[in-house]
Amino acid sequence: MRVLVVEDNPTQSTFARISLQRRGLDVNCAATLDEALNYLKGNNIDVVLLDLSLPDSNGIETFYKIRSVAAGVPTVVFTGLDDQDIAIEALKNGAQDYLIKGLAGDDSVFRCLQYAIERNKVEVALRTSERRLRIILEHSYDAFASMDNRFHITDWNKQAERTFGITRAEALGRSLAIIAPHHLRKQYARDVDEYFQVNEGSVLRMTSELMAEHKDGHEFPIEIVVFKIFEDDNYMFCAFARDITERKHVNEELERRVQERTAELTQSNEELRQFAKIASHDLQEPLRAVQGFANLLQESTKDKLDKDCEEFIEYILDGTQRMQQLIQSVLLHSSIATKEETENIASDCNSIIEEVLENLDATIKECHAKLEVDNLPSVAVERSQLVQLFQNLISNALKYRDKEAPQIFITSEKTVNEWLFSIRDNGIGIDPKYADRIFDMFARLHGKTTYSGTGMGLAICKKIVTSHGGRIWVESEVGQGCIFLFTLPAGKTKESGNGK
Ligand code: ADP
Repeated sequence: MRVLVVEDNPTQSTFARISLQRRGLDVNCAATLDEALNYLKGNNIDVVLLDLSLPDSNGIETFYKIRSVAAGVPTVVFTGLDDQDIAIEALKNGAQDYLIKGLAGDDSVFRCLQYAIERNKVEVALRTSERRLRIILEHSYDAFASMDNRFHITDWNKQAERTFGITRAEALGRSLAIIAPHHLRKQYARDVDEYFQVNEGSVLRMTSELMAEHKDGHEFPIEIVVFKIFEDDNYMFCAFARDITERKHVNEELERRVQERTAELTQSNEELRQFAKIASHDLQEPLRAVQGFANLLQESTKDKLDKDCEEFIEYILDGTQRMQQLIQSVLLHSSIATKEETENIASDCNSIIEEVLENLDATIKECHAKLEVDNLPSVAVERSQLVQLFQNLISNALKYRDKEAPQIFITSEKTVNEWLFSIRDNGIGIDPKYADRIFDMFARLHGKTTYSGTGMGLAICKKIVTSHGGRIWVESEVGQGCIFLFTLPAGKTKESGNGK
C-alpha cells in the first residue's frame, strides 16, 4: 500500500512516516501542495493523508486541488480540532474520512487509511454500475420513468423526453398522469390503483395498450408496462412505454388487406361453386339426350349391325356413363361448403362405418375382404359428408387390392383437440412421389381399363377434411399397401341431427 503524507510540519510528517512504515506501508512525504501535486502526477498512490493547512494552500481549496489531479485516489483529511467544519465539507465532496491531529493514535491512522482504500473501491464500483445502468436507460428505445408510491416521477430518460415532448426537468416530481390525455386521467388512475390493489403481493406487473398525450396536445397509442417494486421499506413504480402508432397503422392496414382478400376469395369461390353447379347441371341435359338416343339406336339396330358398329355404340354408352359419373362428382365436390357451422354437431363414426359397410356389402363379399374397426369417436362433421369420406377411402382400399384378399384396419386416436383416423390396407400401394398429387381433382394413377374411377374420390375426401380444419395424407410404398390418415375436430357429445 503506497501512502502520500502531505504535511508541512516536519515532526508530524516524520512521526507519521515512521509509524506507518512500521506497519509495512510504503510512505512518501510532501511538505507543500506543489510538491504533493507533482508527486501525484508522476506516481501511483493508493491513499493520500492530507493536511489542509500548507504553506502554499489553505483550507478546503487544498483538498479540491488534490482532487483535481488525483480524483480516483482516496483521500483522508488531516485537520486541527477547530477545522472540523472544513473536514466535513471535504467529506461531502468526496474525501473518504478525516482525522483530528493529536487525537488520532498510530493504529487509528493506519486503520483509517485502509478503510479509506476499501471504501473508495466500493464507491468506484457503485459509480461504474450506476453509470452503466444510466447508459442502458438512456439508450433504451422505450421511454422510461420511475415513480414513488404516489406515482410522482423520480426518473425520466431521454426517450421519454422524445416520446412525450416533456423534458426531464419538467417531468421530475410531477404525477405520471401528465402523459395521459386529460379526459382519461381519472379512469387510468383508477385502473392502475385497482390493478395493483387486486394483485398486491402476487403479480406486480401490468401491461396494457392505452392512449397517451404529447406535450403539443396530440394523442397517440402506447404500449406500457408498469412494475411495482418493493424497495427501502416502500413501494416504487417503474414504467416502460413505447409509441405504437406505426405498429397500429401497419396492423390496421394488414387487417384491411386480409379482409379485402378474404372478401375477394369468398366472392371468387362462390362464383366458382356456382359455375361448377350450373355447368354440371347444363352438361347433364345434352348428355342425357346422347345417352337416350344411343340406347334407342342400340335397341332399334339390335342384330342389324355388324360387330364393329355394335361395339361403337357400346363405347358411346360407356363414355356417356363415365361422363355422368364425372359430372356428378364435380357437382358433389362443389357442393361441399368451405366453412360449415359444425361446432355443435357430433356424428358417431361407428354408426357411419356400419352404413358404409352396408353400402359396400356386395364388393366386400365378392373379394372376401376382412375389416377390423376400432371403437370410433364422434366428430364435428355432418353425417352425409362422413359417409362420403369413409366410403371413398374404404372402396379404394377394396378396389386397389393386390393378389391377396383385402385386409382393412380402421383406427382412431385423440390428439389435443382433434381425432386422427387411419385406414390401412394391404393393396397395391402408391409410389410416394404421387402422395400429394392423388388428392387433386381428376388425378388417377391407372387407366380406366385397369381400375374404373373418375379421379374425384380423394379430391372430395380432401375437401371434406380441410373444410373442417383437418389434414389428410397418405403413407405408402408400391406393393406395401397404403395408410390413409386424416384429422377431424372432436365432436360434442350430442349425435348429429340426421343420424341413422
Ligand atoms: P379413383 O379411385 O376414382 O381413380 P381417387 O381420387 O379415389 O380416384 O384416387 C386417386 C388415385 O389414387 C387412384 O386412381 C389410385 O391410383 C390411387 N389410390 C387411391 N386409393 C388407393 C389405395 N387404397 N391403394 C392404392 N392406390 C390408391
